[in-house]
Amino acid sequence: MTTVAIFDLDDTLVDTTARLVPEALRRTAEALGVPVGRLNAGGKTVDEVTAPCGPLDPAQLEAAARAWYDPVVPELAPAPGARELLGRLRGRMRLVLLTRGDPQRQSNKIDRAGLRDLFDEIVIRSSEEPGSKADDLQRILSGTDPKRSVVIGDDPNDELRYGAALGCLTIDVRTTPLCEVEGILANEGLL
Ligand SMILES: [Mg+2]
Repeated sequence: MTTVAIFDLDDTLVDTTARLVPEALRRTAEALGVPVGRLNAGGKTVDEVTAPCGPLDPAQLEAAARAWYDPVVPELAPAPGARELLGRLRGRMRLVLLTRGDPQRQSNKIDRAGLRDLFDEIVIRSSEEPGSKADDLQRILSGTDPKRSVVIGDDPNDELRYGAALGCLTIDVRTTPLCEVEGILANEGLL
């Protein structure tokens, strides 16, 4: 039975909050003509980010979405230990990257962080599409034993919750550095 490791991207393999969010918030505030402080800095989608501004008219919403989802991404250093971990796991388990957002922006982040070649499969789901990461995890794991799988992420209300519900081992990178992941997988008998 193949072991599967499913990695989140944002704030798991790249430091999105520190490296990309401030500039995206600045652009979005500028597009709307509001102070940055009016936006919900913790939002992931443009709807969440602009929610404090109240209902936007269609032109405003389009301008905000263009700014928030700008596909231009600067060169990104991957999170500490990310490349090393993926390199060591490569060929020993099926490595899947699962991310939601604007497809072009997410794809560009993967390239700008130099992560594309380190995965067996990359799943990018548009945040405009219905469904959640629960559906994506189920599809990725179909035909495999979830107990032989690990989900590595940072969001307790998203991939970590859905992964645990499916019976996967979950690793929260907010409390477990990537350099410890290989040892945990070995201890759990997944390597
Ligand atoms: Mg994340």
